[in-house]
Amino acid sequence: MLKRPLALIAALLLILLLSWSLRPKVTAEVARTALIMGTLVEIKAVGSGEKDIEEAISDAFSAMRSEEGRFSTQIETSQISAINRATAAIEVEPEVLFVLQLGQRITRLSEGAFHMGLGGLIRLWDFEAVTPRVPELSEIKQVLPISSEDAVSITGTRVERRDTNLQLDLGGIAKGYAVDRALAVLRAAGLESASVNAGGDIGLLGGHGERPWKIGIQHPRKAGELLATLALRDRAIVTSGDYERFFMLEGVRYHHIFDPQTGLPARACQSVSVVAATVAEADALATAAFVLGPVKGLALLEKSHEVEGLIVSAEGRIEMTSGLKDQIQWR
Ligand code: AMP
Ligand code: MG
Repeated sequence: MLKRPLALIAALLLILLLSWSLRPKVTAEVARTALIMGTLVEIKAVGSGEKDIEEAISDAFSAMRSEEGRFSTQIETSQISAINRATAAIEVEPEVLFVLQLGQRITRLSEGAFHMGLGGLIRLWDFEAVTPRVPELSEIKQVLPISSEDAVSITGTRVERRDTNLQLDLGGIAKGYAVDRALAVLRAAGLESASVNAGGDIGLLGGHGERPWKIGIQHPRKAGELLATLALRDRAIVTSGDYERFFMLEGVRYHHIFDPQTGLPARACQSVSVVAATVAEADALATAAFVLGPVKGLALLEKSHEVEGLIVSAEGRIEMTSGLKDQIQWR
């Protein structure tokens, strides 16, 4: 007699359990912004449970701030500032080692067009100044790297500048790396759908819900207008442009991406957008291709594994890697 009510209770419990696990999940989309590395960073994430998403986003911002603390030349306690002061090799953290090694690889691939030793030059041009000026050629000569070789030499986990006259600046790669770290935090929190945009350095986790993320590429000469859009998931896309940080003087545009050979703003491109597996790689490659110009820049992107890109030349001509042609949508 007792057996039946027990079976009934068990069956009811099972139904309750099933209906609980099969309940429709409430999905929420949360977007937050923060000022990090001098850039407005926007994180969007989709998931179930707004509170959990908010917490994950806040942790992702914290991760980016710690990378700023490691890589910024404006922060005295950063590891890069320590390398810049040191007269012998010093021990660095794994994160710094990773970024310097990636940077070295891109320096070699680009034959020195991407160079991590332009700190002196960047300080000389000082784009943060209220009234920026064009330095004298004699001043530029004093701060230029001596060769197109790597800016650092690495032995195990110890790093030193190749030449103590060089000042490191990782502005062309560190922001991308920080976005990668933010994505890792969001992924570890269990999110499957997120985007992190640090002023054109974009990292994507999954798609935008069921669909891919739709990413706009800024028109380099029409502010607020898009040149094209790309549908992407689980990818990084970074744009380097001469319109990002610049000043005009007597009709000439002076911007923040330098040709290490001349110490002057690189002149062959208006913008370069690179799609890659990680934001750090896309970031460094975009800066490198920008300096190399449309022909050599495109060759660099074509030969890089799982990398696509779009280059707008100084004349406004558009060049693309072969794999991008059927992915792009024109505006
Ligand atoms: P991005 O906006 O990623 O192209 O990087 C530009 C930033 O990278 C500049 O603000 C500098 O800090 C640094 N930079 C400028 N020229 C170069 C170069 N040729 N190679 C590496 N970093 C550079
Ligand atoms: Mg870059």
